[in-house]
Amino acid sequence: MAIERGERGPEVVKLQRMLLALGYRLPRWGADGDMGSETFGAVARFMEDHGRIFDDDADRISDEEQAFVAQLHEQLGHPLPLPVGSAQFFDLRAQADRRHIIRRRSWHDVTGICLHQTACVLGETPQRWDSVGAHLGISREGKVMWMFDFDTAVVHANGLNASTVGIEMDGTYAGIGGDLRTFWRPADEPDRQPQAPTPELIDAARATVRWICAEVERHGGRITRLLAHRQASRNRRSDPGSELWQAVAMPLHEELGLTDGGKGYKLGTGYAVPEAWNPAYRGVRY
Ligand SMILES: [Zn+2]
Repeated sequence: MAIERGERGPEVVKLQRMLLALGYRLPRWGADGDMGSETFGAVARFMEDHGRIFDDDADRISDEEQAFVAQLHEQLGHPLPLPVGSAQFFDLRAQADRRHIIRRRSWHDVTGICLHQTACVLGETPQRWDSVGAHLGISREGKVMWMFDFDTAVVHANGLNASTVGIEMDGTYAGIGGDLRTFWRPADEPDRQPQAPTPELIDAARATVRWICAEVERHGGRITRLLAHRQASRNRRSDPGSELWQAVAMPLHEELGLTDGGKGYKLGTGYAVPEAWNPAYRGVRY
């Protein structure tokens, strides 16, 4: 039976639960069994993401439209295994600072992942990551913090904001491992020393990239690029640095068939990935 606007009941709850399982949020009312404008809006976004036209001012949801939601729910609506054990995974989406959000975006717009170093030490307390402007954070002990949904554009990487998911990897890393001239220090901390990435951070970051790719794919999108913040900002030359690039990004380019845009690729005022990070890029300067 078609569901009319304003209708209440178990059929509506069923539809709302399917939408939630598919990643369409109902932040104000949840699965309340009331077919109101929030649920119509979620149906409209779902239809748009899957190449169908649906007017969110519609008066009803047809049997055929309900069946389409149910079909996709059957195919996609099972939660993926988390990238790390549940004791190491922290869902901070409810408390993350929403001022970082630019807008909602279609899953088809999510085509890349951008890697960052925090260039400070946020540490192991998940609450300290609430204020971070990136979709995910990885601690040095391998904890994964999840701040924003991937179908939300967030301010983290200049010209890459609209198309990428951002991962902040915790710690202070040299732009080129072992070269102190490439190590960024804040003015009030002239003695700061570079850290080396930990195996736990590397493993968790790699698992998180795989997880993002799978999550985007099951919503109908596709990740093709794994990039460095450096490539989009002249103020982030050392971001994330050669050691994280070689330990996290390069093996995943190979494993998952992702690209950093190729030799010389950069956006705006950014810097290309240098030879010091990837020896294949002969002649590209830091
Ligand atoms: Zn960055």
